Amino acid sequence: MIQLYIPLNFLGVIYREIKQSLTDLEKMFTLMEREREIADVPGAQPLRLHAGDAAVRFEHVTFSYDPAGSAGAAADKPARTILHDISFEIPAGKTVAVVGPSGSGKSTLARLLYRFYDVQQGCILIGGEDIKQVTQASVRAAIGIVPQDTVLFNDTVEYNIAYGRPGCSREVVETAAKAAHIHAFISSTPKGYDTMVGERGLKLSGGEKQRVAIARTLLKNPPILIFDEATSALDSANERAIQAELQSVAQNKTTLVIAHRLSTVVDAHEILVMDTGRIIERGTHGALMAQGGRYAQMWALQQSAEVVDLAAA
Ligand code: ADP
Ligand code: MG
Repeated sequence: MIQLYIPLNFLGVIYREIKQSLTDLEKMFTLMEREREIADVPGAQPLRLHAGDAAVRFEHVTFSYDPAGSAGAAADKPARTILHDISFEIPAGKTVAVVGPSGSGKSTLARLLYRFYDVQQGCILIGGEDIKQVTQASVRAAIGIVPQDTVLFNDTVEYNIAYGRPGCSREVVETAAKAAHIHAFISSTPKGYDTMVGERGLKLSGGEKQRVAIARTLLKNPPILIFDEATSALDSANERAIQAELQSVAQNKTTLVIAHRLSTVVDAHEILVMDTGRIIERGTHGALMAQGGRYAQMWALQQSAEVVDLAAA
């Protein structure tokens, strides 16, 4: 009996091993499938950015997540166009703000600039170079992004912040954490910067994760910044404080800011008002207010909401 049991048990181990390998293989193919959408062209060179040259340009960009013929496209359903013929420029060192209702395509603009996906029509240029023609890694190295939903690595707080600049000292990490208003919170945990976070560690709130992402971006100090509703998960006192910090960081950097609070876009070089994948109004704050269109309407609505907020406080 025992003679039979051992080989059977052994087979069980092998079976589990094989099954695990197949699962890993499956995961790998899923990853490759996703990566294929943004494969570098053969012989792609890294983006060459010269000082003060990090202008960003969207030229007639049209995009859908599931273009006909792609792996994810349903054969019977036509692809839904998410962005229609979008053109704008962020001159080097300037800020362009994007506002508009949820689902209008704002985050998609951010994802395309960070090259999570390649555009189907038109192009995106950084410093005059088409980001589709250079390596994806070099595009991402030039950009700091604070996304709407930050996913942290299953690692320490320090690792998650220092990821912006691998190998930097604890002191530098702490300085960034202080600027992002997360240092006091980290210090209050028993293990401090050695605390494990992520799925298997300490669960952070949306606002805390956002502040870790902000600290990471401050450390990375790239020429181009993307803030996608970067302070939306914070309470208003924290939001105001960090907003001031972000504004000083964005000084002289090419910045795309997606804002849910209009007070943060007043100084932008240009404001784009989006609706269902189209730019329906554009201009400076002053020009848009004078125009008395959608932007002016949104502004009036938010002002009255803030008055109500203050009255309630
Ligand atoms: P916003 O940031 O303005 O709220 P998004 O850019 O996130 O809008 O989304 C624009 C549209 O694209 C929405 O209709 C959304 O449902 C769709 N969308 C967003 N992400 C994906 C995705 N990964 N796959 C398919 N559709 C998506
Ligand atoms: Mg969004």
